[in-house]
Amino acid sequence: MNKGLLIVISGPSGAGKGTIYSQIIKRTDMKRSVSVTTRQPRPGEVEGVNYYFRTEEQYQQMIAAGDFLETAEVYHNLYGTPKAPVFENMKNGYNVLFEVDVHGVRSIKKKYPEAVAIFIMTPDFKTLEQRLRARGTETEDSLKIRLGAARRELSEYKLFDYIVFNDEVDLAIDEVLDIITAEKRKIINNEEKIQALLAEQDEE
Ligand code: 5GP
Repeated sequence: MNKGLLIVISGPSGAGKGTIYSQIIKRTDMKRSVSVTTRQPRPGEVEGVNYYFRTEEQYQQMIAAGDFLETAEVYHNLYGTPKAPVFENMKNGYNVLFEVDVHGVRSIKKKYPEAVAIFIMTPDFKTLEQRLRARGTETEDSLKIRLGAARRELSEYKLFDYIVFNDEVDLAIDEVLDIITAEKRKIINNEEKIQALLAEQDEE
């Protein structure tokens, strides 16, 4: 069996990465990576589904135990990817999908350069601002902070392998799925299977 791929989705808040992420999980057999966070659950969020919600103290214990593949502070809360389930899933041939901030992408790429990183962006900043306003969850101040952060995140584009401009969300989802298919079909990701086929031929 081929080892699964590690696919990372990132991009500014408001670009639609959360929607794209959950649709891909719904439509494929990819495994999601459930992050740990110290932030409070939002209404409707479920422990173990959206996040593992932990206290700052519990989180620090996990850091000390080396439980994280990466950890970052985002908007004054800690977020981290637990290591063990990711490698377990990959070993069993599953592709694993992550949604992390840009710092998370950098740490993951450092530890695991084969990870495929996809940046989700709106067609322009004006659209990003409109979407953030439409969410109705941001104050003027937090809107400014998020737009400033979006610019900084986009300027880190060299960390990424692909960019998808989310104009129509269904098209953006299709593009991400196309990227994943192309990555799965790379020769380098199919060597074991090809070798097995060749061995079969030798036996005949
Ligand atoms: P939210 O609080 O809105 O769920 O997430 C805030 C930000 O944290 C998002 O940009 C999201 O991508 C990022 N995030 C969620 N989980 C992780 C994680 O495990 N690691 C990192 N580095 N960022 C994360």
